[in-house]
Amino acid sequence: MRRVSIFGATGSIGCNTLDLIARDPEAYEVVALTGGRNVAKLAKQARAFGAKIAVVADEGDLDDLRDALRGSGVEAGAGRQAILEAAARPVDWAMSAIVGAAGLEPGLAALRNGGTLALANKESLVCAGPLLMETARRHGATILPVDSEHSAVFQALTGERMEAVERVIITASGGAFRDWPIERLATATAAEAATHPNWDMGQRITIDSASMFNKALELIETREFFGVDPARIEVLVHPESLIHAIVGFTDGGLMAHVGPHDMRHAIGYALNWPDRAHIPVERLDFAAMGRLTFEAPDEVKYPALRLAREVMRDRGLSGTVFNGAKERALDHFIAGRISFLHMAETVERVLNIMSSERLGIDASTLDMVRNADETARKRVDEVLPRLTS
Ligand code: NAD
Ligand code: MG
Repeated sequence: MRRVSIFGATGSIGCNTLDLIARDPEAYEVVALTGGRNVAKLAKQARAFGAKIAVVADEGDLDDLRDALRGSGVEAGAGRQAILEAAARPVDWAMSAIVGAAGLEPGLAALRNGGTLALANKESLVCAGPLLMETARRHGATILPVDSEHSAVFQALTGERMEAVERVIITASGGAFRDWPIERLATATAAEAATHPNWDMGQRITIDSASMFNKALELIETREFFGVDPARIEVLVHPESLIHAIVGFTDGGLMAHVGPHDMRHAIGYALNWPDRAHIPVERLDFAAMGRLTFEAPDEVKYPALRLAREVMRDRGLSGTVFNGAKERALDHFIAGRISFLHMAETVERVLNIMSSERLGIDASTLDMVRNADETARKRVDEVLPRLTS
């Protein structure tokens, strides 16, 4: 029996992970499941999987969770500290699937026990790549990528030497506004941005796909996880989302990873690595597909990509600032306080303001990361009134 925990169990990635675990219940012992505010869903999952402990994000929800778990034998916890304690319980495999920088510390807590961390939470690598990788190294833990593009790169690199890698191409669907002219983006609403052409994901990452902030985070994720020179990382718009990444080698050969757009493939790969298991995703029919299409990304329409290049150049805390500012700008966009285009404008302003504050420090400590994240969010609120209308 493998002991597993899932941070962010009630979300899109969390539910897909439990879907795979449910297919082979004898193989797993579920230790900790954490959620955000959806008490009923978390309690239902914890009962169904016989978890040892279930934890919600808000301390105020503790009584409700206790009620919902009464008689189940599942321990209840609530609040940030309780999530960190649950995440620190030793397991063989943990899924990091909380959305946002809030996922960083639970991931670090799990890494300190050794074992394997399946990393869906790309924000961890953007905010604190060196810290995360160093913590894994120090504790003999393994990090496996779950983001579909990074799982694809990881798979394409099996058996290869990094010195033979010439380029890494990650694909982008183009998101909800791929076919919108740039002039129309100013009026885009959160509801319009939250519909993805191919993938079924959480609301925040879906809006980030429409703005290409998701792809921007993934550029940085590629740089931090694989240690590839940013000049060798490319984004390619591929509307069908069937090729997830392509790795080019020095001999001119390319390895493309092709698969259905169903996250259970990448989650299942991380769950079963280094083996492969039967995963119940669609089998692709190439003849029926007919053709696959590609286009270059538009960096004028999507400034997030350009900003990610600056962050990869500066490294250090600039990733933390970039992500924190993006998260706060996204909060404001979802609440209807700023327009779609204001998100990138805000993030750029905050990066510029804070770039004078010694961002390019490589070995950031957790305190520095926390502090930079908090400050970036405050700066967003400060620049808000000065945005161009
Ligand atoms: P989601 O919004 O569906 O789920 C997020 C989970 O985190 C939920 O369980 C939520 O309750 C919990 N959560 C939210 N805020 C929290 C907080 N402050 N403290 C503790 N828990 C909190 O998101 P998702 O789409 O499942 O994405 C999860 C992560 O995986 C993100 O980092 C995302 O970028 C990444 N990812 C997702 C997909 C996908 O297909 N959904 C693909 C690639 C990467
Ligand atoms: Mg992705």
